[in-house]
Order: sequence, then C-alpha cells, then structure tokens
Amino acid sequence: GLYPATVQYPATCATLGVLKHFHGLSLCSKVSAYEYYLNLERLTDSSRVEIPKTRYKAFLRMVRQYRHERLMKRAGRGNIENGIATTSPGDLALICAACPQPGINLPKEWERVPPALRFLYTLFVSVDANFRLKNRLRSNELVDAGLHTGLAYFVPQVSYKEHVMNHVSQADISSCSGFAALSRADSKSSTGLCYTGVGMCICARHELIRPLGVGDLQKGERYCNMDYIVLSAVAGLALRMLMIIYDIACQWRVNFSKRMQELPSHLHISDNVL
Ligand SMILES: [Zn+2]
Repeated sequence: GLYPATVQYPATCATLGVLKHFHGLSLCSKVSAYEYYLNLERLTDSSRVEIPKTRYKAFLRMVRQYRHERLMKRAGRGNIENGIATTSPGDLALICAACPQPGINLPKEWERVPPALRFLYTLFVSVDANFRLKNRLRSNELVDAGLHTGLAYFVPQVSYKEHVMNHVSQADISSCSGFAALSRADSKSSTGLCYTGVGMCICARHELIRPLGVGDLQKGERYCNMDYIVLSAVAGLALRMLMIIYDIACQWRVNFSKRMQELPSHLHISDNVL
C-alpha cells in the first residue's frame, strides 16, 4: 500500500512498508528520521550524483500521521462513529494489564476484603522528573499543534497550562542542597528553552506510563507541575489504596491535600486512599 504526502492531488507518497520499518526502528534504536532518509537516498543512488529531489519534509509529515493513525486504530477508534472527534483524554494510552483495574481484572467483592489483605489491590505508582528532555524555543503549539495531545500519555494542555500559569513564581519542591547538587544541577536554566524537562508518573511494578501521566516542566521540579501530573495519572481510579513512590516525597507530601483543592475538581482524590 501507499501513503499519500498530501490530501488533495497527491503526487508524492511513501510505501506503508517504509513507514512501518522506520516506526519500528525508531522504537528500538536511536536512528533519526534524517539519518533514515539519508540512507534511503544512498540506497537509491550510492554515488550521490543524481540524488532525487528531497522529500524529507513530506516523509516527516507522513511518519507523524502514520503514527497518529496507528494509535487511533489500536485504541479501536475506527469502529466508533466520529471516532477521532469523540476520543476522550487518555483513551489512546495502553493500560497496564497487571495493575488493579476495578471492573476489569479484580475479583467480585474485592472492596470487602479485610484491611490486612487490602495491599492486594493497591496501585503502586512512581513519580520523577527528567531534565534531559529539553524542548528548545523553535516552534510552538500554535503553529505546530500536536495531533493527539491529552488523548494518550500527556496531560491535556489547556487546563494544565492554566494551573501552571497560576503558580508562575512557585519554587522547587526540594530545598535539600545535597539532592539538588546530585541530580538536578542544570534544571533551573531555562534560557532558550520552551520546556526544561518532563515530569512523569508510571506504574512502579511494571513500568508502564500511566495514561495522562506526563507533563512538560517550565522551570525546575515544582509543586504545581508535579501535583497536576500525579493527580491526573491516578484520578478516576476507584481504588482503595494508592502507594506513591517519589524521591522527594518527604517534602512533596507536606500540604498535598491543601494544594489539591487548587486543582480542577475531577482530579481530586480521597485522603483515605493515600
Ligand atoms: Zn502496572
């Protein structure tokens, strides 16, 4: 099959085979689209005397659309009327099959087990920030919008940004000098950067990223970002016990319930769960 580069009057296309090959390769290697395209050019003309006119940008566009469509297909959106428009936040994420999901993989009456056995139905999540995934100030979401932001792993941008904008002057969570020197020495410099890193919440026992459990960080590791990311990753789960593993939990958990009240109500969780 062929994938068109443009919708109207397409004159360029890629084979589905090449898109699938690049997609698979990029998931298990560090090959960039540029390097892959360069290799295609060399396979076409190894002497590089008559290289075909570049279709690199068209290739990038096709790869991006192909990945988006695969995600939609995998989530079964093709079988639903208006499947793309009616996709809800987090619908495209792969759910961990081993973590407790009420109504899916828990026995009947699981809520009535004695307290000593509640640990069986505890969700373990692990939270941390990464400051290597920087995003430079080159483009922005207005001119280069994401195709499914907020529908898979990243938090919905509008309400997340709104919350962060209300806490612009907030300081880092950890004020521990030894910890900062060890792990986040360069986390505060935001010169020339759109985002300085990402915060993420994964299921700790199986290492699957939680749906809506990833968010951009604008400066350091702050309460406003991490609170939103953690609550967005666990909200809506009807579980009785939740264990959050976080390297700076000692400082983060102080006043957590108070800060939760500043977040949208659909992200609130019961104090008894923690
Ligand atoms: Zn899991």
